[in-house]
Amino acid sequence: MKDIIEKIKDMAKKEINEASNIKVLEELRVKYLGKKGEITQKLKELSAVSAEFKPILGKLLNDVKRDIEELLAFQMETVRNLAMKEELEREKIDITIPGKRHVVGARHPLNIITNEIVRVFSSMGFSVVAGPEIEWEKYNFDMLNMPKNHPARDESDTFFISDELALRTQTSSVQARYMETHKPPIRIVSPGRVYRIDEIDATHSPMFHQIEGLIVEQGINMGHLKHTLDAFAKAFYGNETKTRFRPHHFQFTEPSAEMDMSCFNCGGAGCRVCKNEGWIELLGCGMVHPKVLDMCGINANEYTGFAFGMGLDRAAMQKFAINNLKLFFENDVRFLKQF
Ligand SMILES: [Zn+2]
Repeated sequence: MKDIIEKIKDMAKKEINEASNIKVLEELRVKYLGKKGEITQKLKELSAVSAEFKPILGKLLNDVKRDIEELLAFQMETVRNLAMKEELEREKIDITIPGKRHVVGARHPLNIITNEIVRVFSSMGFSVVAGPEIEWEKYNFDMLNMPKNHPARDESDTFFISDELALRTQTSSVQARYMETHKPPIRIVSPGRVYRIDEIDATHSPMFHQIEGLIVEQGINMGHLKHTLDAFAKAFYGNETKTRFRPHHFQFTEPSAEMDMSCFNCGGAGCRVCKNEGWIELLGCGMVHPKVLDMCGINANEYTGFAFGMGLDRAAMQKFAINNLKLFFENDVRFLKQF
């Protein structure tokens, strides 16, 4: 029996030393020390051994049992440490490896200009309103006092989608929509894309951008218009900017005017930007036509208002000294990231 016990001991040592994970070690514990384990079995067999050898074999068995327990505990610890080391190795971060570069885009010059203008008017209490780019004739023409025979409605100027629908030719359509659904006081600006049939060249495109503004309140007069737009020009182009108003004609305003500003580049002396005029045409404006107010459901005897509109593309070209409108729409990153 002694030989058998020694064999079991050797076998157990070998197996435990070779075990490389916790699960196998648990299985070995059951195999040798479990209820039906080999050592346990031998301890049970002791009762059949003669009194002479019982103490010797008993001591041997208990020594072997303790040896196996200690070995199991030691190997268990070793395996655990190894697993933890591997885990740490896997999670190691090399902070010397160069990071992945993220390419950050730039804002489009038209967006920069639009945001700047909106910021100026927001500070004067205007809110921003958007409208659809596919528009009913009713809002694009009728309610802006442009009757059926008006030249702006000509099919050679307007992208008609159906008899009654077109790509909007101006952001003024938003004014009509807003006045129809809101009661005065009204104070809004509306930037956006507009469309007119045109050949593409350095200063023309069938798609371009406008910003439109509208105030309707009690007692609004031409003085408010001039002061507001002069204040805008000074806030946007600098305090030294001068403005002048020239009489003009628009269907939806009466009286109407065009506003020029002194050239931001030369201050009025004459240069390439202002074509030696000293003045740059900035926007169109006027007092809202009483017929337009009436058509939108606003009592023209009680309320007056003024409206203005300016091209954003030309303003951006002037501000950033860009000489070709096409650059705005070509999406060339080398161009766009300059701003
Ligand atoms: Zn100039």
